[in-house]
This record gives sequence, C-alpha cells and structure tokens, in this order.
Amino acid sequence: MHKYDIAVIGGGPAGLSAANAAVQLLGERSKIIVIDENPKLGGQLIKQTHMFFGSASHYCGARGVDIADILKEKVKEKNVETLLNTTVVGYYGDLTIGVHQLDNSDENFFSIKAEKIIVATGANENFLSFVNNDLPGIYGAGAVQTLMNVYGIRPGKKALMIGSGNIGLIVSYQLMQADVEVVGLVEAMDHIGGYPVHASKLARCDVPFYIPYSIKEALGEEEVSGAVIAKLDKRWNFIKGTEKKIECDTICLAVGLSPLSEFFWAAGCKLVYVKELGGYVAVHNDDMETTKEGIYLAGDVSGIEEAVTAMLEGRIAGAQASVSLFPEIKPKAEKVKERAKEELRVFRAGPFGEKARIGKEKIDNLNA
Ligand SMILES: Cc1cc2nc3c(=O)[nH]c(=O)nc-3n(C[C@H](O)[C@H](O)[C@H](O)COP(=O)(O)OP(=O)(O)OC[C@H]3O[C@@H](n4cnc5c(N)ncnc54)[C@H](O)[C@@H]3O)c2cc1C
Repeated sequence: MHKYDIAVIGGGPAGLSAANAAVQLLGERSKIIVIDENPKLGGQLIKQTHMFFGSASHYCGARGVDIADILKEKVKEKNVETLLNTTVVGYYGDLTIGVHQLDNSDENFFSIKAEKIIVATGANENFLSFVNNDLPGIYGAGAVQTLMNVYGIRPGKKALMIGSGNIGLIVSYQLMQADVEVVGLVEAMDHIGGYPVHASKLARCDVPFYIPYSIKEALGEEEVSGAVIAKLDKRWNFIKGTEKKIECDTICLAVGLSPLSEFFWAAGCKLVYVKELGGYVAVHNDDMETTKEGIYLAGDVSGIEEAVTAMLEGRIAGAQASVSLFPEIKPKAEKVKERAKEELRVFRAGPFGEKARIGKEKIDNLNA
C-alpha cells in the first residue's frame, strides 16, 4: 500500500492545476501524486494544435499542446510524483484506490491510500446508433485527433464529420490540414453548434454543410466506403426521400461528451443527471467537494466545459483539499479559491458559459 496526502486521478488541465495549486500552498510538507492512464500528461490538451481563446491568465493565444507543456513543467519543477500508463480501476473504501499499471509488457496492480482524492478524469465521447455503426473507419472525433496530432497517422482520405459543435468544426479543419478531404459536415440541429469563427473557415474551404441532417447508415462490407444521410423533421425523424449517399472512408462522430463519472458511483457519492452538464455528475459544493468527505472533483468530470474552466476548478479543488489537510494555510488558500471562483463567474456569465451556468445552478440548488 502506497500512502499520499493528495492523490489526483487524471493529468489533464484540471488535475495538473489541482496538483499545482496544492503544491504551491503546501510545498515540501505534503506528498502529492498525479495518476494518468496515458503515457503523457496533459489530457485532451496534448492533441490540440489550435490556439485557445480566453484571457491572458488562461494562456489564450497558446496552442493546447503548449499549455499542456507549461502545466507539466510546473508539476515537474515542484517534484510532484506522477504515475503514467496507470489506470485507477477501483475504490476500496476509506479513500483507498486500486490502480493498474502497464510498464512495457509488465502489469502491476496495487493500492494507494490518500488523505484526499481529487477526481479529474475528464469525459467520454458520445456515440450514435445507426446501421453498421461498428464498421472499421468510424471514429470519435477525439480519437481522430489523437491519431493525427499525437501519433501522426491519417485516419483516411475522405472523411464525413457528424456534428458541428466546436469539436466537429476544429477536427474537420485539422483533417484538412492533414490533407484529408472533408466531404461534408452533418448537423441535426437547424443551425451550426460551434463558434462562427471555426465554421467560417470550413465554409471558405467549400466544405458542404448538411443541416438539419443526420446519418442513417454506414456503407461497406469490411470497412467504411460511404454513408447514407437524410434530412430531419422538427421532431428529429428522418424525412423519407431526402436520403443522400456520400462516398467516404472515414466517419467521424463529434456528437458530444459525457462526464466520466464511474469513480463516483464506485465510491458511493451522490450523483445527479444534469443535461446542461452532459450527463451524470457527482453532486458537489462550490469548493468542489463531493458528498463523500475527502473526495473532490474538477474539470469536465464535473460538467462538460472548457480547458479554462477545468484549470480554474482544479485550482479550487487543489486549494480546498490542501486547507482541509493543513488548516493553518487557510488565508492563502482562500485567496486562491476566491480568485478562481470570480474568474469562473465571469467566464460563465458570457453566452458560451450559459449552459454550464444553468447546470451548476441546478447542482447549487440541490445543496441549498
Ligand atoms: C477538439 C477540441 C477542441 C477544444 N478546444 C478548446 C479550446 O479552444 N479552449 C478550451 O478552453 N477548451 C477546449 N477544449 C476542451 C478542453 O480540452 C477540455 O474541456 C479539457 O481538456 C478538460 O480537462 P480535464 O482535465 O477535465 O479532462 P481531460 O483533459 O480529458 O483529462 C482527463 C485525464 O484523465 C485521464 N483518466 C481518465 N480516467 C482515468 C482513470 N480511471 N485512471 C487514470 N487516468 C484517467 C484521461 O486519460 C485524461 O488524460 C477542446 C476539446 C476538444 C476535444
């Protein structure tokens, strides 16, 4: 059994910011560990080659992959321990977790006992049901980004994108940068879901937009050779006779994310379904503590948002976990939390933060 003051599960922007806040407040007196199933720290950021929006304190203008490097460097400088290629696979009660570590071909199982646990596991990609949706050549948009931007592998030559949120728009553009033809962008709503700035880049490149359409069927025997899409009515039923056959070898699904909440079910935390936050989330207070004392959360796992909000929530969770261990740091910890909470408030007050604001208000009402 390995023992730590704070165990952070997930090394994306939320988890790294939580670890950084904790180590800045506690310094040498605490043992902190960040655990991530990937071979690299950074979470989603390591595949994001585009420049981020936001304010200077949130690294706007930097590419996601560079923000990941900045956060990783801070953790490394302060000697926070990291366990990579390691997945948290269970919760054994009393703030003890089971982990599975892959080291080349060796695998180890062991447990970690922490005084505080911060869960920053991010999100899962949603999938769609349609005929032949298990054919090789059908990917989540995040998987396509990982293939291209982390491993330098093109997923195919002609891609059809389903979903016009920011992820669908950005990954479409990145596919074109990798010399993949984007043969169409299909959206079920009657308007583009993402920021106009991303959509207009595709429009300028003559990518056909199919709105309001959805995918009915993937074509092919052994792998994707095309897709059938059809127009939707107001109740999202296919309209007969509107089918279109599109030739492609890759179908990319960018139809939303859901918080990766499994840990909380296993740990017995109270969960609630909040559609604005993307699915089931652990009920939490504004210090990011769940209904189980000593278990905190931050980032997309607390509701689908952005890297900026993930970093701010991470700072709050890291500061609160630290102060609950060492109450004497309260004045400094309060400052960190107050500043992050104010920045979150400002971020969520804007039109792009509206969904999250409504979702978080629903959680606050449960706590009231
Ligand atoms: C295409 C795209 C473009 C985006 N563009 C922007 C943008 O311009 N600006 C912006 O602010 N945001 C953007 N985002 C959103 C942003 O990337 C996410 O909101 C952010 O990464 C969430 O951070 P996180 O730390 O909560 O989760 P993640 O970054 O997903 O990190 C979670 C980490 O936890 C690990 N993990 C999960 N489960 C376990 C387990 N059981 N054991 C161990 N490790 C585990 C995962 O492997 C991962 O490394 C974009 C996202 C995408 C997909």
